Amino acid sequence: MSEKEQVENKNKVVTRFAPSPTGFMHVGGIRTALYAWLWAKKNNGTFILRIEDTDKEREVRGSIEHIIESLNWLGINWHEGPNIGGPHASYLQSERLDLYKKYAQILINKGLAYPDPYTEEEVGVFRDTAELAKKPFLYREHRPEVFDKWDGAKPLRFKTPEIKSYKWNDLVYGNLSAGPEALDDFILIKSDGYPTYNFAHIVDDIEMCVTHVMRGQEFISSTPKFLSIYEALGIKPPFYATLPPIMGSDGKKKLGKRDGAKDVLEYRNEGYLPEAMINFLALLGWNPGDEREIFTVDELIEAFDISRIGHSGAQMNLEKLDWINKEHIKKLSKEELRNNIFKYLPDEIKIEKIIPIISERISKWSDITEMIKRGELDFFYKEPIYSKEKLIYKDSTQEEISNNIKNIILKLDEIDENSFSKEKVKECLNLVSQETGKSGAILHPVRFALSGLDRSPDPFIIAEILGKNETLLRLQKAL
Ligand code: GLU
Repeated sequence: MSEKEQVENKNKVVTRFAPSPTGFMHVGGIRTALYAWLWAKKNNGTFILRIEDTDKEREVRGSIEHIIESLNWLGINWHEGPNIGGPHASYLQSERLDLYKKYAQILINKGLAYPDPYTEEEVGVFRDTAELAKKPFLYREHRPEVFDKWDGAKPLRFKTPEIKSYKWNDLVYGNLSAGPEALDDFILIKSDGYPTYNFAHIVDDIEMCVTHVMRGQEFISSTPKFLSIYEALGIKPPFYATLPPIMGSDGKKKLGKRDGAKDVLEYRNEGYLPEAMINFLALLGWNPGDEREIFTVDELIEAFDISRIGHSGAQMNLEKLDWINKEHIKKLSKEELRNNIFKYLPDEIKIEKIIPIISERISKWSDITEMIKRGELDFFYKEPIYSKEKLIYKDSTQEEISNNIKNIILKLDEIDENSFSKEKVKECLNLVSQETGKSGAILHPVRFALSGLDRSPDPFIIAEILGKNETLLRLQKAL
């Protein structure tokens, strides 16, 4: 960071999401991105997307595009990063190799970095010997006395200046410490010219003026390494906020595929709303300190606080996701609701009146496809098929039911075609019920005659949607 930048950036919150392009984005990764983004937004700060693509062997083609698509879907937008650039471009580590070399040179000049003189086989022998002696392998125990000049052909190692314990304050977990066993002369730059994660992310966090680093617990044990590099460079480290792990639905095991540990875009394909997904992920490890559970994105930005991130594992609960999604569906405008539902409906039943029926019964859009598969919507555009016994209600007789249906047909026929509304139909059916004193023997056969289902939307509503002609036709058929 230049001095000018330091002055300008004073007090400005800068967070980053730094994924490695090694596969699809899963809920854990996205939650990290979300928390970093929320914290930056809340503080009018900067959120950076940085792609950590220095491990070419583990890189999976298409992952960068996938990361970008996932974040775009959720509306997690970056102020600096791929596609849009920014003052610290490039945001791909593989395009920043000169910078890592520059920092490596600073350490070399301080006598704190040296080329590894050993072949891989030699290091393997050291490792095996330590193992045989049941001791941890420490490279620093084999550190050469005199260092060669580094020409890039050999890995460059950090000469850990001091083997000591480190204590630091984590914004979530409070005081943490790790002993000297975590420290070793680790590799800064590999022989292929790429830096290691341990080194590159520090250089980038420094250069990009990152103030808050949020990431999973797996990085706690390496923190002494990071702190020793900051110390060697004479630079203050950023704040660390370690996020709690995400656990499976039983709250004990680590998240598995069955609990929803899948590609986050699969949630999009299943028809979850991005704002519901954001709401759900935000609550996976954070709480607002009150009873609220449903948040718009703006409300989340307002309410989010690092101090309310929990310590214990957050439990992934897909039923809760469904519930949250349903609540967000309720918030959609009529137009949005209609457009989304119509995307899933066959043309024959793209009718306005069906929208409330569907929206009441689903928690995500793909539920519509399931309803269609189960034939639950067939009766809107196909004559229902059922066996005639189904029309008989409990202990009623066939004669009783036939009379009721006849009566209903007569009454419904009196309604004008243009005012054939659910209210009018209901009125009619109530009238016949009063006459016979048995509402079940009225509603049940009408429901069956119109839908062919035991459980269906209200028969009055179906009648209104089908219209007078079709309703009477189906009742005649039942008769
Ligand atoms: N590239 C690292 C990962 O994907 C980032 C860790 C960090 O945020 O520092 O795990």
